[in-house]
Amino acid sequence: MFYRVLAQAYDEIESTSGTLDKIQLYSDMLKNAEPAEIDMIVALTMGKLHPDWKSEPEIGIAEKMAIQVVATAASVPEKVVVDLLRKTGDIGSTGEALLQESAQATLFAEDLTVSLVYNALAQTAKLSGSGSNKAKVSKLAGLLTDADPIEARYILRTVTGSLRLGLGDMGIIDSLSTAFTGNRDARGDIEAAFNVCSDLGSVANVLVEKGIDAVRDIHTQVGVPIRMMAAKKLSDAEEIMEKIGKKAFVEYKYDGERVQAHKNGNEVVLYSRRQEVITHQYPDVVQLILTNIKAESCVLEGECVAIDPDTGKMRPFQELMRRRRKTNIESMQKEVPVALFVFDILYLNGADVTSLPMLDRRKLMEETIEVSDRVSLTIGEFTEEPDRLYEIFEEAINTGYEGVIAKAIHENSRYQAGARSWLWIKLKASYTEGLADSADLVIVGAIHGRGKRTGLYGAILASAYDDMTDTYPTVCKIGTGFTEEMLTEFKERLDEHKIETKNPKVISGIDADVWFEPVEVIEVLGDEITSSPTHPAGKGRIAGDAGLAIRFPRFTGKWRDDKDPTQATTVDDLIEAFEKQRQTRE
Ligand code: ATP
Repeated sequence: MFYRVLAQAYDEIESTSGTLDKIQLYSDMLKNAEPAEIDMIVALTMGKLHPDWKSEPEIGIAEKMAIQVVATAASVPEKVVVDLLRKTGDIGSTGEALLQESAQATLFAEDLTVSLVYNALAQTAKLSGSGSNKAKVSKLAGLLTDADPIEARYILRTVTGSLRLGLGDMGIIDSLSTAFTGNRDARGDIEAAFNVCSDLGSVANVLVEKGIDAVRDIHTQVGVPIRMMAAKKLSDAEEIMEKIGKKAFVEYKYDGERVQAHKNGNEVVLYSRRQEVITHQYPDVVQLILTNIKAESCVLEGECVAIDPDTGKMRPFQELMRRRRKTNIESMQKEVPVALFVFDILYLNGADVTSLPMLDRRKLMEETIEVSDRVSLTIGEFTEEPDRLYEIFEEAINTGYEGVIAKAIHENSRYQAGARSWLWIKLKASYTEGLADSADLVIVGAIHGRGKRTGLYGAILASAYDDMTDTYPTVCKIGTGFTEEMLTEFKERLDEHKIETKNPKVISGIDADVWFEPVEVIEVLGDEITSSPTHPAGKGRIAGDAGLAIRFPRFTGKWRDDKDPTQATTVDDLIEAFEKQRQTRE
């Protein structure tokens, strides 16, 4: 398929507001594609050439480089590109306009196909070492000179991560279902396959080449990360017991990093929450698994927690993150040793065990794990009593845990890959202290500091993630409670992601002095969620013309490096919490 067809579909989808219409347009385009190109189209639309876990080089180029690419392709000075970029606020339209003016574009344009564009981007991503930046600029500029202006717009948006179609993963899944099965009924099957193999491109390939039955046949495999199950949150013990099915296994909530460990013979691979390979970060955990797990092959999940080498006591999450950021893993292993607390099993000796009830899985874990001071199962207890649940919670808090997670144990209490459902419900100290909740927010902008804070950032603009539209609407400006250390860290970390103008995926009612790529995720505590005339999160989905804001927000000091920005608190989460807050007050 010509890339032009994809670009035109993107253009139409962007200018259409209804989700169903967007899905129809995307699905019509998919039907016209060569089967062998479907995975590439899905990958380009998701903005990643490969799933994270394949550890292949990604294209994501910084805005600064994109400016050089446009300048080279359109034969204009970089300043011309920067000036226009400031006006349009979008590198895609900037490139489009400048290439339109450049005679070259029309004289020598070659017909670009989807595979040609995909392969050119993949080759560019692979360039590394000295001189690679120059080579990348020249390769991408070459691609743009062969492109029509509209194609250039979308190539630039794809490589800078600013493609904004308003489809999201579920929109793509709905479109695949519509295109290749005739309606949206197969969305659940496609989503389930995506959840167990973490690669929507390859699911699309199976669908188009072998049909929906083959998609239903995609199961858990060792060496392919499974999208992780998540917990809902509630602050009332009675309500938790009610929602969970009256009986629960209540586990302590450990404050570390979640790890999904895949063991196959003598080989162990560890994946993070965002499905990145983190094996090299934890050679000690690999060793623990090899010595303490009695299975030929298995997939386990647990929390990796920093411990004090002398006392064996758990240390705060920040300690673990400090170790994660260091490159001298050997010495950090001694300085910040870790223990692994296993809480789930997904695969054992050739069998997918995700559909077994929770207590059966727990039994398998007991049989598989040889407990030591460094590897054990999470502490937990069966209860039917809300009062006992609350007591366990208090014991957990008093002994240094983050809270508890109540887990359903009825016959349908399977491991639900990729879902945040009522099978797991968490209760944390912050929920019971009258605070609205903690939220994981994406930093999108900042305001320059004044007085003592000159040269640093005085306030941070933070967003939730809207998974329905794949955008980052702001929810608060955080300007108080920062320590000197926090301010310095903001400056150091954020300056790496500075951009000339707001990323088109960011929607903000406030003007920032500096904008950033939406990549850094932090934990924020707030007093309550209020309706807001300023912040756009949830606008149109709650009463009136207001959006939602987090009141009196403060940074907890916790950088959520283990979270992808699309795993931040969603607008739906905030709407749910807002509604709940309203009911409680009535
Ligand atoms: P939070 O910020 O509350 O950790 P989250 O969005 O990171 O939430 P959730 O899936 O909502 O993640 O909460 C569950 C997380 O708690 C898991 O990802 C895991 O890392 C951690 N955890 C700690 N102890 C347990 C346990 N016993 N069982 C399951 N998860 C646990």
